[in-house]
Amino acid sequence: MTRSISILGATGSVGTSTLDLIRRAPDDWRIVALTANCNVAELAALAKEFRAEIAVVADESCLDDLRAALDGSGIEAAGGKRALCEAAARPVDITVAAIVGCAGLGPVMAAIEQGGTIALANKEALVSAGEVMTAAVAKHGATLLPVDSEHNAIFQCLEGGRIEDVRWITLTASGGPLRAVEDLSAVTPEQAVAHPNWDMGAKISVDSATMFNKGLELIEAHHLFPVGLDKIRIVVHPQSVIHSMVEYRDGSTLAQLGPSDMRVPIASCLAWPQRMDTPCEPLDLPTIGELSFFQPDEQRFPATRLAREAAEAGGAAPAVLNAANEVAVAAFLDRKIPFSRIPLLVERVLSEGNLPDAPRSLDEVLMVDDASRKRATEMLELA
Ligand code: NDP
Repeated sequence: MTRSISILGATGSVGTSTLDLIRRAPDDWRIVALTANCNVAELAALAKEFRAEIAVVADESCLDDLRAALDGSGIEAAGGKRALCEAAARPVDITVAAIVGCAGLGPVMAAIEQGGTIALANKEALVSAGEVMTAAVAKHGATLLPVDSEHNAIFQCLEGGRIEDVRWITLTASGGPLRAVEDLSAVTPEQAVAHPNWDMGAKISVDSATMFNKGLELIEAHHLFPVGLDKIRIVVHPQSVIHSMVEYRDGSTLAQLGPSDMRVPIASCLAWPQRMDTPCEPLDLPTIGELSFFQPDEQRFPATRLAREAAEAGGAAPAVLNAANEVAVAAFLDRKIPFSRIPLLVERVLSEGNLPDAPRSLDEVLMVDDASRKRATEMLELA
C-alpha cells in the first residue's frame, strides 16, 4: 500500500537519510512536500528524483531560483515561512520533521494540527514549545514518534512494560568529540563538529560537543515520556551502541542497541508499528568488544545541569535556553566566540531573573524565542 509523506528539512542529514530509505522502496511512497531553507540545487534535484508534489524554500529570496530549477517539471515551487507551514499542513500519512532549530516549530505545529503522524527529529521545536506542543498533539489526535535515537530507543523499550512501572529512564550520551580534550577554549568549529560516532548536521554536532544535545534531549524526554524529571538520568557511553534504557520497578532493564546510523530509528518511525528492512550494518558485538559507562562531568560540560534547571523551572525557561544556545552555536560556528563561551552565554541569558511568563500558544512561544535571541545577541555584542 502506498503511503504519503512530507519531509521538512529534506536536504539535511536526517532528511537525506529518510530519502535514502525511501529510495529503496519508491513504490511504497508518494512524496507530497520536500522543504529546505535555501539549498535550491539539492532540493530541486530531490524533488525531481522523488516526483514531489511541492518543493518549498523557507528563505523567500531563494524562490526565483527554485522556480527556475523546477521549470517544466510540473512540481510546484513555493517560498517563505507561511508557504512552509501551508505545505506542512497538506494531509499526509507521515511527516518527518527534520528542520534544525526552533525555525521548525511553526511547520511542525501545522502538521500536528492535521492530526497525522509526525516523526520528530526537530528536538528544538519540542524543547521550546513543550506543553503547547503536547497539548496540540492531544487536541488534534496526532501521533508523535521520536526519531532521535535515544528517544526512539526509549519508545521501543516502553513497549515492554507500563509507564507507571518505570523506575528510571537512562539517556545514553556519547560524550562527543571533546570528552578528553583539556583546553576547551581553544577548540575550533572543525574539531567540535567531528563527532566520533555519528555523521550529523553542524548544529547538532556542536550541541553534542557541548553536551547541550543531551540537555535538550533531557527536556525532550520529559515531554515525550511523562515519568517525572527526577526519573530521567544521563550516562556517558562513548561507544553509542546502547541508545538508551528503561529500568522497571522489578529490576529489569530493557535497552535498545544498534549501529550508529540514523536510518535505524528513522526506519522504526517510517514502518511503525511494523518493521522494515534497512541497509544498515548489523551490530557486531565481538568486534565492538567492550561497552563502557561514566557519569557526565558537569564541571567541564555544564549544559546538562543548565537544561535540567530549565526543565525544573518550566514555563518559558526551556525556550529561553534553546534560543540562547542556537545564537551561541551560530556565533561559535562563525568564529565569533570561543567554544567555552557557549554555556556561559546560555547561563547568563537564563539567569537574568526576568524570565517571560509561560507561553500558552505557538505565537507566545515564538515571541519568547525571538526576545531570547535578541537578548543573547546583545550579550554577545557587549562582551
Ligand atoms: P542539517 O543541518 O543537516 O539539516 C537541516 C535541514 O533544515 C536542512 O534541510 C536545512 O535546509 C533546513 N533548514 C535550516 N534552517 C532552516 C530554516 N530557518 N527554516 C527552514 N528550514 C531550515 O540538520 P540535521 O539533519 O542534522 O538535524 C535536523 C534536526 O534533527 C535537528 O533538530 C537535530 O537536532 C535533529 N537530529 C539530528 C540527528 C542527526 O543525526 N543529524 C540525530 C537526531 C536528531 P538547507 O539545506 O537549505 O540549509
